[in-house]
Amino acid sequence: MLVRITEMLKYAKKEGYAVPALAAVDELTSRAAIEAAERMKSPVILLCMENGNKDLCYFGKMINDFAIRAQIPVALVYDHTTSFESAIKGIRAGFNCIMVDRSQIPYKENVAQVKELVRIAHAANVEVESELGHVGMEGSDAQDSECALTVPDEALKFVEETDVDCLAVAIGTSHGVYKGKPKLRFDLLEKIAQKVTVPLVLHGGSGTGDENLAKTCRKGICKVNIVNDLYRSAYNALISDGMEGNRIYNLFPVLSKGYIETAMHFMKVLGSAGKAI
Ligand SMILES: [Zn+2]
Repeated sequence: MLVRITEMLKYAKKEGYAVPALAAVDELTSRAAIEAAERMKSPVILLCMENGNKDLCYFGKMINDFAIRAQIPVALVYDHTTSFESAIKGIRAGFNCIMVDRSQIPYKENVAQVKELVRIAHAANVEVESELGHVGMEGSDAQDSECALTVPDEALKFVEETDVDCLAVAIGTSHGVYKGKPKLRFDLLEKIAQKVTVPLVLHGGSGTGDENLAKTCRKGICKVNIVNDLYRSAYNALISDGMEGNRIYNLFPVLSKGYIETAMHFMKVLGSAGKAI
């Protein structure tokens, strides 16, 4: 069934687990995410990266249909929209949540731009996730200048000023592959969770480590974005199969199998398995 993200995350927050937001950019990945969730009886979020699908209106219709027919709760997020136009595109395509990322611009402007889009999205019955602090790209970590950790008091102010529905926080995770060992600031997460009442989101779940992820859920993270590990697992399944001769006809089912296995693993790690109600 299609559900609002805040409705879904309300239970996650209460019970101390996180819902995985899984890369879903086409029919194969969307079906794989839902199949994994149905097998694990887990709620799931389909996460489409900005420009992840070339025909967003068609894709939006398709995943709405998938969500309605799914046996588990499904929410639809259009991730990291970086412009006004892109956010509107996500709303028009039928996502029931858009992520508005202005984490790299100065605070005051960030608030102004996010606030405007929250007002528009809410009028269209769409929810909004935003990010404060900045989760870096490609192996950057908390020590990198590109990253900026979330400041708890600022996070509280930001949520009040913008009226966002969920907040992504920067506590030391990174998008893509990590350079070294991830160093997560659990102390910081605790402080943010004490102040901010909206559900907290962790970006860059891939490569963070099972133990670290499980701990973030216990300390207030309600949604974890996973992309890289799913794709890597799909690729590895293909390589280990070898695809000799007519095995090539199994190309897409094997990719899907690799994706599903890792998605199911994350549902156990995040504690969402068995929580579909
Ligand atoms: Zn992200």
